[in-house]
Amino acid sequence: MDLSPHSTEPTGSAHHRVVIVGGGTAGISVAARLRRAGVGDIAVLDPSGTHWYQPLWTLVGGGQAPLETSRRSEESLIPDGVRWIREAAAAVDPDARTVSLAGGGLVGYDYLVMAPGLQLDWDKIPGLAEAIGHDGVTSNYSPEYAPYTWELIKGMRSGTAVFSHPATPLKCGGAPQKIAYLAADYWRKQGVLDKIRMVFVLPDPKLFKVPVWTKALEKVVERYGIEVRYESEVTAVDGARRELTITDKKTGTEETLGYDLAHLVPPQSAPDWVKKSPLADGPYGFVKADKHTLRNPDHPEIFALGDVANLPTSKTGAAVRKQSPVVVAHMVAAMKGAEAGKKYDGYTSCPLVTARDKMLLAEFDYDLKPAKSFPGVNTFKERRDMWVFKRYVLPAVYWRGMMTGRV
Ligand SMILES: Cc1cc2nc3c(=O)[nH]c(=O)nc-3n(C[C@H](O)[C@H](O)[C@H](O)COP(=O)(O)OP(=O)(O)OC[C@H]3O[C@@H](n4cnc5c(N)ncnc54)[C@H](O)[C@@H]3O)c2cc1C
Repeated sequence: MDLSPHSTEPTGSAHHRVVIVGGGTAGISVAARLRRAGVGDIAVLDPSGTHWYQPLWTLVGGGQAPLETSRRSEESLIPDGVRWIREAAAAVDPDARTVSLAGGGLVGYDYLVMAPGLQLDWDKIPGLAEAIGHDGVTSNYSPEYAPYTWELIKGMRSGTAVFSHPATPLKCGGAPQKIAYLAADYWRKQGVLDKIRMVFVLPDPKLFKVPVWTKALEKVVERYGIEVRYESEVTAVDGARRELTITDKKTGTEETLGYDLAHLVPPQSAPDWVKKSPLADGPYGFVKADKHTLRNPDHPEIFALGDVANLPTSKTGAAVRKQSPVVVAHMVAAMKGAEAGKKYDGYTSCPLVTARDKMLLAEFDYDLKPAKSFPGVNTFKERRDMWVFKRYVLPAVYWRGMMTGRV
């Protein structure tokens, strides 16, 4: 079998000591750490030739970063000595310890890492799939549409702009509101904010899960004059008429609202094939995993991390950064017939961009307790240095540190 430096030849049937499903943030981070720990015979399954650093898409939509800076070739990130099988997983059989491939092959494993991310369910809101990308409807959740967000923001001088948060678990819970603040600050600087009605639709009764950041965000919303529709959802889109249906979940009342710009975040769930697998857990079909060890309780040779894992914390790349060393510690210990003590505490982080040069850094754990990475720095208030950190430092940490298993 060709392993130099990373082979991509098609597979009929093969076996690897470690199979990683998904070569995104979580998959590459785990592969790189396993190689650093001296583990061999690893295969990464991923059909995509492109790897995305998704946190930059907020800034792409806000006109603060070119899309290109969020993209690298998948091949350039596969660690040396790791086999890249450029195919999609289609099913997993945990009893047989095999993964079936969309192309018809089968890959056996001793250890399996589930990291295929989540699925964007554009079709779950009637009219959204038809309207997205034109008719004034956009979303930073896809690289296809993030540049259109900026086109719409740049071109708007008056009218109604609607931003929505879905009523499902989602990746980066702050992203639906960050783009509203980037837009508002841009319009304020252009002197047109008072001619634009801004509406933010969210299913929760509060702007954020953790009270200290909720308070700070309430001030931001007030500063920009954004109307917040709490406990509400966008339930239909009519792109041709430029109208949205907003349903108030408390009363069931439906309102039709005309829009000029709509930044809509689609409902999200586990990929369909994961939902159908024996590993699926909970209403959205995410993979069952112990919240501290990230091991599947029924099949301890299977680990899940990243967006696909059913964990009671926010799904972010920052969470993956803390999950990946835990997966590797437990897997390497298991390979030696031992147990590891390392535990994931639910750490996640949301860089809440609140203006074109300001940010709040929300970091917390399973108990929603602030878990600050910069102890001496007041990240409860908006800061310019934190915006610089997000725009310039974090991408470098990602490409050079996280994707090489150093961070
Ligand atoms: C707009 C936006 C803003 C964000 N902002 C932030 C932020 O500021 N901070 C932060 O920490 N996080 C942020 N995130 C979230 C972060 O990007 C994700 O949480 C992170 O990428 C999750 O990593 P993952 O490996 O689980 O999934 P992904 O990185 O999405 O990778 C999944 C991989 O699996 C592959 N795959 C899919 N299906 C299959 C299959 N069947 N077989 C094999 N491979 C498959 C895909 O091709 C992909 O390469 C943001 C996300 C978005 C969309």
